[in-house]
Amino acid sequence: MNQFQLSRARDLSDAIHAGALAHTAQQGAEVRFLAGGTTLLDLMKLDVEKPMRVVDISRLPLDKIEATKDGGVSIGATARNADLANHPLIKDSYAVLSEAVLAGASAQLRNMATTAGNLLQRTRCVYFRDTASPCNKREPGSGCSAMQGFNRTQAILGTSDSCIASNPSDMNVALAALEATIHFEGTRGKRAVPIDEFYLLPGDTPECETLLEAGDLITHVSVPAPMEGARSLYLKLRDRASYEFALASAGVIVAVKDGRITHARVGLGGVATKPWRSREAEKELMNASPDEATFKRAADAALADAKPQTENGFKIELARRCILHALKQVTTHAS
Ligand SMILES: Cc1cc2nc3c(=O)[nH]c(=O)nc-3n(C[C@H](O)[C@H](O)[C@H](O)COP(=O)(O)OP(=O)(O)OC[C@H]3O[C@@H](n4cnc5c(N)ncnc54)[C@H](O)[C@@H]3O)c2cc1C
Ligand code: SF4
Repeated sequence: MNQFQLSRARDLSDAIHAGALAHTAQQGAEVRFLAGGTTLLDLMKLDVEKPMRVVDISRLPLDKIEATKDGGVSIGATARNADLANHPLIKDSYAVLSEAVLAGASAQLRNMATTAGNLLQRTRCVYFRDTASPCNKREPGSGCSAMQGFNRTQAILGTSDSCIASNPSDMNVALAALEATIHFEGTRGKRAVPIDEFYLLPGDTPECETLLEAGDLITHVSVPAPMEGARSLYLKLRDRASYEFALASAGVIVAVKDGRITHARVGLGGVATKPWRSREAEKELMNASPDEATFKRAADAALADAKPQTENGFKIELARRCILHALKQVTTHAS
């Protein structure tokens, strides 16, 4: 592990000022914010992340989870995953988010991990974490070891010739289906970006994963008011029942009225390079009858552009079944 300077931000402006040092030539090197540390510290020990300055933001008062005037909810950047999942407002009105967070990691990790840290967790691609292997994401231009190597867990949607790494987060899938907005602050002032635009596809620059610029601090995430009458579900399929990342997951939100689907949102995890919202599936669902034929069409549409690698072709059928099962479950007994 490289040497680094550790400081604790006194308040928000102190943290933003520290982040701004990422832009100064004298400091030169990267600045990283430390929240729960469950991703950052692992990557620093592996020499994948080598910041010169680490700024502890875990004690900033950014941990509130509160209802907003427009009927939605605001989730602070440093709110712990456990507090988020168990918050009455989230459990009652955003069950898909609570279920997704509880499906991730372990109880101990969820007690440490934060909202912003979860949004920015890095891929679990084994080559990304192994500094002896070429990896375009870690070292741009060095090549992608996964293409011809171990790629069973990699993505089948949103991939490029440079990188096929899947986004590992469960929480992000629910936030994509809930159409959340990410709020951040930095030298360019305050910005708010819909989650769909916040994450970037790998393209030729897989090292750029989000719209954040060096030193930007995520302050909170806002989620719009829940759709009246909608029901939701997060379904995660993985190699073992707990403490494992998704091979395929689906976060679905569906409302049915008079035998027709009036609202449909479909998020996918484990299969894509970023938290995936399937507008193709949603299109098949809208105004259709909530039956197996509709759900199959939606699942097929979601996977129509899937591009399998040598070892992960099974994910296409797995993801299809995941979507189908989630939609069936969420619409059972719906009017
Ligand atoms: C063994 C293990 C199993 C796991 N299993 C799962 C799983 O099944 N599903 C799942 O979804 N996740 C899983 N995780 C990942 C876990 O959810 C993340 O490690 C956690 O959410 C990261 O949050 P943190 O607060 O600890 O982030 P940190 O490690 O503190 O930070 C992560 C990154 O975010 C940056 N950051 C943090 N806060 C901010 C901010 N406010 N503004 C800007 N940048 C910020 C940091 O600089 C760093 O780059 C697992 C992790 C481990 C170690
Ligand atoms: S898939 Fe992406 S993260 Fe994995 S080795 Fe290839 S470039 Fe690196």
